[in-house]
Amino acid sequence: LDFCRRIPKIELHAHLNGSVRDSTIRELSTGLEGGAVSLPDLQRLTQQASRTLGECFQLFDVIHRITTTHAALTRITREVIEDMADDNVVYAEIRTTPKARPEHGMTTESYLDAVFKGVADYYAASRRTQDIQVRLLLSIDRRQSAAEAMGTARLAVQLRDEGVAGLDLSGNPSVGQWETWRPALEYARQQGLKVTVHAGEVWNPEEAAAILQWRPGRLGHMCCLDAALEKHLLDSGIPLELCLTSNVLTRSVPSYADHHFPSFWPGHPVVLCTDDSGVFASSLSREYALAAAAFNLSDEELQQLAVAAADYTFLEPGERAALRERMEAALLVES
Ligand code: 5GP
Repeated sequence: LDFCRRIPKIELHAHLNGSVRDSTIRELSTGLEGGAVSLPDLQRLTQQASRTLGECFQLFDVIHRITTTHAALTRITREVIEDMADDNVVYAEIRTTPKARPEHGMTTESYLDAVFKGVADYYAASRRTQDIQVRLLLSIDRRQSAAEAMGTARLAVQLRDEGVAGLDLSGNPSVGQWETWRPALEYARQQGLKVTVHAGEVWNPEEAAAILQWRPGRLGHMCCLDAALEKHLLDSGIPLELCLTSNVLTRSVPSYADHHFPSFWPGHPVVLCTDDSGVFASSLSREYALAAAAFNLSDEELQQLAVAAADYTFLEPGERAALRERMEAALLVES
């Protein structure tokens, strides 16, 4: 784990509200009354080692009930970046669904302003010479209607010069239909934004095939595939965001040993990510260490994985090349 902590890393699949510190969840939920989950349930959910996919989405609902103020959003954003930087993450794409909460005076725009303020607060307080670079991805939640999804896509396009690098489709994989959100994703892509899509978290071969055919810039998870879909994915060359702990804890894959990582790497572009470092009590270093243990990866292979991730970022080509150079320069120091 110490070696994994020291190598510079790139995080491309991290949900903002899934990356909140447990201590912050407990602090912000003090005095929270009513609702679907009681405080003891919340304590249990944040402390248990394993959570089913259903329990995870229950926990997201709780987290969303305590991140309703602009101040809370700004705080969690700053803390998530602090934790990543402490873990030697040098570049991160953090994703979040902008949420309007009229009862709290929050619009989707002001939600994002609060997140941007968290990014700015992090840099204002940071004393690092070589600091983490951060971009945002806006997530369409699968609960959203076609019109809401288009609203999220339009916001992403409007904010691309403010640090939004792309669009994501996520949310409970058992909810909704791909065709509902496809036009919004298509619009963003036509406007030049990069798109990543969660797929194959549960067994839904028709949807996974349709998403593959649409060819997103990256794909998240892709755990539940048959041989034909796996071949289609391998042929596509689309970079794959793999989140070991998340996939095992939510039972999308039965165990680390059974994870589909070795079906793709080496040979296919793969990036190791955390998904929800708070909800799954992990870190990117830990994900690298788990991959090393499960698939017998050498230190050199871990470094190759880390550097290659630069090529799968949603940065502009020049920025991507600069990041790769920075990664390579840092690796020389390590080896
Ligand atoms: P937020 O967008 O509120 O910042 O982050 C939490 C949200 O990310 C969850 O409500 C859910 O929509 C999405 N999310 C987090 N983890 C997962 C996951 O493992 N799978 C899927 N499909 N969505 C997720």
